[in-house]
Amino acid sequence: MKLKNNFSALEKINHPLFTQHKVQVEIKRDDLLHPIISGNKWRKLKYNLEHLKKQGYSGALTFGGSYSNHIHAFAFACYQLGLPCLGIIRGEAQYENNYTLSWAKHWGMQCHFVDRKTYRRRFDDDFLLELSQQYPNFFIIPEGGSNKLAVEGVSEIIAELAQQTQFDTLLTPVGSGGTLAGLIDGDSQLFETKSQHKLLGIAVLKQAEYLSNEIKALLSEQGKTHQNWQLMTQFHRGGYGKFSPEDLTRIIRFNEQSQLTFEPVYSGKMLLALLDLLEQGYFKANERIVLLHTGGLQGLGGMIEQQRLRANDWPKLPLP
Ligand SMILES: *Cc1c(COP(=O)(O)O)cnc(C)c1O
Repeated sequence: MKLKNNFSALEKINHPLFTQHKVQVEIKRDDLLHPIISGNKWRKLKYNLEHLKKQGYSGALTFGGSYSNHIHAFAFACYQLGLPCLGIIRGEAQYENNYTLSWAKHWGMQCHFVDRKTYRRRFDDDFLLELSQQYPNFFIIPEGGSNKLAVEGVSEIIAELAQQTQFDTLLTPVGSGGTLAGLIDGDSQLFETKSQHKLLGIAVLKQAEYLSNEIKALLSEQGKTHQNWQLMTQFHRGGYGKFSPEDLTRIIRFNEQSQLTFEPVYSGKMLLALLDLLEQGYFKANERIVLLHTGGLQGLGGMIEQQRLRANDWPKLPLP
């Protein structure tokens, strides 16, 4: 399948708070890169799919939760490639008909459910060896798609931005850290010795401090020398997928005002962090901020099914 080198748009966002705090905010619309392979998953899969095609694998397998954006994107990508595809899913088979996995199965993904204890082995060499014996000649992509090929794909965002605008600070939500690693790498490639940019990752899970080491492990040699990034771990709002009614109200109100869609698991947490940081006076006057919209709207499907969100507050999602 072809993932073209098309630029995602950069748009200005106007908001009374931005005016009040004298900052300029733009948004990199990676959510518009592809109708199904959303946002950063498109960037992360780009070179992985190229590799898959070139090497003549018999199939591909990956890991994820039952509402995972990565599982959803990966299933579609394999479907387009005509490649057998397996998802090792954390949780019980009771989830197999939820929004995300219904689509994944629709695209031919075989879902293999494992308990939490087994799922925890997803990075262990012995587990990966077992899987490679069970599924010979399958390409194995880690959870969230975060590997070196993903970092390379994400790094292209910085090259695009360099042609689109000048900015001081870039914000991204952080799950596994692959996206932030890609941005750090891109910035270090383009601005070798002295980067002008501050790269802020907003961790969406609790106790995310360990991710700093994961991020460093994903960086190329060049990226390792750069210190212009920071993982902010205080904006998780209770943990992965958690948010208060007030958080939700703020996101929905911002969506109405901006005509954009931020969802509460990733992009919405980045947005709330931005608003909190503004109120705390974190940014200097005239600071030029770019938000990376990493997409992930399919994740709303599961939350609407579980009645954690009201369908009317969100764009309509396609049904499998
Ligand atoms: C997967 C995902 C992230 C997290 O990206 P990482 O590279 O895992 O840090 C952020 N936003 C959205 C919408 C995602 O689907």
